[in-house]
Amino acid sequence: MNQGLKMLESAQALITKTAEKMKLDGEMIKRLIEPEFAHEFALTITMDNDKKKVFKGWRIQHNSALGPYKGGIRFHPDTVREEVQALATLMSIKCAVAGLPYGGAKGGIIVDPKQLSKEELERLSRAFASRIARVIGVDVDVPAPDVNTTPQIMAWMIDEYQKVIGHKSPGTFTGKPIAIGGSLGRTEATGRGGLFVLQALLKKINVGANSTIAIQGFGNVGYYFAKLAAEDGFKIVAVSDSKGGVYVSQGLSVEATMNCKKEKGMVAGCYCRGSVCDLKYGRPVSNKELLELPVDILVPAALENVINDQNMKKIKAKIILELANGPITEEAYQYLTKKGVIIIPDVLANSGGVTVSYLEWVQNKAGYYWSEDEVNKKLEEMIVKAFRAIWDKSVKKKMPLKQAAFEVALERIVSAYT
Ligand code: NAD
Repeated sequence: MNQGLKMLESAQALITKTAEKMKLDGEMIKRLIEPEFAHEFALTITMDNDKKKVFKGWRIQHNSALGPYKGGIRFHPDTVREEVQALATLMSIKCAVAGLPYGGAKGGIIVDPKQLSKEELERLSRAFASRIARVIGVDVDVPAPDVNTTPQIMAWMIDEYQKVIGHKSPGTFTGKPIAIGGSLGRTEATGRGGLFVLQALLKKINVGANSTIAIQGFGNVGYYFAKLAAEDGFKIVAVSDSKGGVYVSQGLSVEATMNCKKEKGMVAGCYCRGSVCDLKYGRPVSNKELLELPVDILVPAALENVINDQNMKKIKAKIILELANGPITEEAYQYLTKKGVIIIPDVLANSGGVTVSYLEWVQNKAGYYWSEDEVNKKLEEMIVKAFRAIWDKSVKKKMPLKQAAFEVALERIVSAYT
C-alpha cells in the first residue's frame, strides 16, 4: 500500500472512530470525510533546454464549514493524490482545533524541486497559481507554503494570481515575504506556538520549566522551539538533524550548536569529550538513540512515523510534543498512551504556524500591520485558548488529548453545518 493511502485511511479512521463515539450518523460521517472538491491537473512548462515537460498536481479542498479552505502546497517527488487528500483532511481538523475560521485544503505537485533551475521553479510555481486561480481566493481558499515551498515561491504565486484576477489580493496566499504583506513572527511561529502549548500543559500538571528536552530535527521548527525553550529555562540536552545528533547531559547551548551546524553543515560532531570537536562535554547520538534518551520531554520535529513498534518500548520521556506532523504511528500511540505518556497531538502542538498564517490574512484584509510583539501575544492567546478547550474535554471525558482534540474539532465543524 502506498504511504499516502495509508495516511488517508488512518486520518479517515480517526474521524470515523471519533464521530461514532459522538453518535453522529453515517451520512454526517461521510460529510466529514469526503472532500468537497478535488482538483487534479497536468501542468506543462518549458524547461531551460526548450523542451516541454508535464507535471501532475492537485488542490484538494476538504471541508469549508468553518470558513475558506486553508492549507499548504508541497513540491515533492513522492507526493500522491491520497497524501494530498489526507493532509487536506487533517488541515480541516487542525484549523478547527486552533479555533480558526477556516476549513482545510492542501495542494501538491509531483516534482523534485532540487532538479529544477530557479527559472524552471518559477515557471512551475506560476503555472500552478494560474491553474488554481479560478478555485482559490481570499474568501474561498488560501494556500501557504509546505514541504519544499518557500516565501519566494508564494511571492511568484501571488504575483501570477493577481495578474489573472486583475487586482491586488495579498490575503489569498500566506507565508509571503514581509515586503509583500507577510507577517512578522511567522518564521518562528510553529516553534513558539509549541512552546506556549507545552508551558500551558506543564502548569496543569505542576511540572517546572527546568525539565530536560530532546529534540529530533533542527530545522525551522526544531531550532526555534529549542531557542525559545532554552530562553524560558528548559534544559535542552539533545538535538539532531538528518545526519545525527548530539547529547549533552548538563544542557547544550542552542546558539553555539546552530553556529557549529552552519559551519560544519551538521550538528553531529559539534560536541565531544575527545579532541575532534568544537564544544565540550557532549557526545554524538544517532537519531534512533536520541528518541530513547532519559529525558522528561521528547520533541519529534522532523519526520513522520519515527516513534513506532520498533522503538516504542524504549521511549523514556513522560511527555511527547508532536511538532512534526504524524511522528507517532497508531500502534506506538496506543502503547504509549496506555503507559501514561502524555502526547500533545500535532493538530494542536504545531498549529502555531497556521495560526500566524491566519493573523497574516487578517492583517492583509485590514491593510494594517502589527508589531512582532503584538503577533506573538495574539498567537499565545489563541493557542492557549485552543489548548484549554482540549485539556478541559480530556479531563471531563477522561480521554487522551488527541481524542479530545478530534472531538472538539468535529463538534465545531458539525455545529457550523446549517
Ligand atoms: P525543515 O526542513 O526546516 O527541518 C527539518 C529538520 O529535520 C532538519 O533539521 C533536517 O535535517 C531534519 N531531518 C530530516 N531527516 C531527518 C532524520 N531522518 N532524522 C532526524 N532529523 C531529520 O522543516 P520544518 O519546517 O522544521 O518542519 C519539520 C516538521 O514540522 C515537518 O513534519 C513539518 O511538516 C512540520 N510542520 C512545520 C511547520 C512550519 O511552520 N514549518 C508547521 C507545521 C508542521
